[in-house]
Amino acid sequence: MKKPPEPENLRLRTRLVAAGRRPEEHFGFVNTPVYRGSTVLFPDAASLRANSPRFTYGTKGTPTTQALEEAWSDIAGAADTALAPTGLAAIALALSTALSAGDHLLVTDSAYQPTRKFCEGYLRRMNVETEWYDPMLGAQVETLFRPNTKAILVEAPGSQSFEMQDVPAIAEAAHRRDICVIMDNTWATPLFFPPHARGVDLAVEAGTKYLSGHSDLMLGLVSANARWSQRLRETFDLFAMCAGPEDCFLALRGLRTMDLRLREAERQGLAMAHWLAARPEVKDVLHPALPSHPGHAIWKRDFLGSSGLFSVVLHPVSRKAVDAFLDALTLFAMGYSWGGYESLVIPFDCRSYRTATTWAPGGPALRFQIGLEDAADLQDDLARGFEAMLAAK
Ligand SMILES: *Cc1c(COP(=O)(O)O)cnc(C)c1O
Repeated sequence: MKKPPEPENLRLRTRLVAAGRRPEEHFGFVNTPVYRGSTVLFPDAASLRANSPRFTYGTKGTPTTQALEEAWSDIAGAADTALAPTGLAAIALALSTALSAGDHLLVTDSAYQPTRKFCEGYLRRMNVETEWYDPMLGAQVETLFRPNTKAILVEAPGSQSFEMQDVPAIAEAAHRRDICVIMDNTWATPLFFPPHARGVDLAVEAGTKYLSGHSDLMLGLVSANARWSQRLRETFDLFAMCAGPEDCFLALRGLRTMDLRLREAERQGLAMAHWLAARPEVKDVLHPALPSHPGHAIWKRDFLGSSGLFSVVLHPVSRKAVDAFLDALTLFAMGYSWGGYESLVIPFDCRSYRTATTWAPGGPALRFQIGLEDAADLQDDLARGFEAMLAAK
């Protein structure tokens, strides 16, 4: 049987098809099956004592998790990848890889809110001090470095509010002090932002979102460059916070079509962003691929595409009117998470938790996840919502 070609010689789209596959080890079946298992049997005492087989115990990995780790490392341009049961668990794993008691950590004020809670609720107890910084700081963030600063967390664009960050400039400043650069890269994925090529040491992806693509699994991935890969693997082994085998299998399936789905999310997301920007009820569209976005130049320089998640600020209206808008929608469901095939919307307000910056968008804010429905139907749905908003004013 032909072995798939070595992925490093191939272009990204081909690598998405070829990476992590070993049909010759699975009776020719195209996909690596779901391996469920805790115990792995050793053939003899010598291999038991040497701990020599490739797989030794369920927590150390299976052919299913290995296929996903290999494929993701290839796509992300990483030395290694560790899998976690959720995106948030992957963030916890990345932070635990980089930090020790007594360290100082810098986290963007625009970070995913549960990341913030982890820093305040857990890292604080572990005697790690978190300082929040303005995402717009760029290389200036080095003015906040202290002798015990050991990691900086970036997220671009910011969760909900979509500020862009100058990741290469931040990474360059951080690396002068051997500070670990951790990025939550869930929005762009490695397809639209190759994290390690841009200076990121540990890149986190919530596989729950676009890698799944179908709102049917939870998964987190941490990819590491050569400087951090061994420490990542050691930390992963200590936690043994393993992802479920079924979820890994589904993520591998999602990976094969991820480029197609992301490109469609980009196309449809932009179409809806432009349509919304032209509505009289809309004050601002927070989408970094729109030239009106303050972070557009950075997006254009560093990113290879945009996904289908963005926010909108409405001209001031009452909460009752916003709720009438939301309740009138039939295609845009309300729910957390995103990256699936279905459109979603949630209202949000960052005021309650920001500490380094002021969130004052000048009107109610909504986050949209654009799915694969027909754009004309989505526009009709939103038009119905705006009518209901006007009537409730
Ligand atoms: C959803 C999300 C996460 C967390 O992923 P879960 O799998 O839900 O834990 C992390 N970062 C960002 C930016 C997210 O949107």
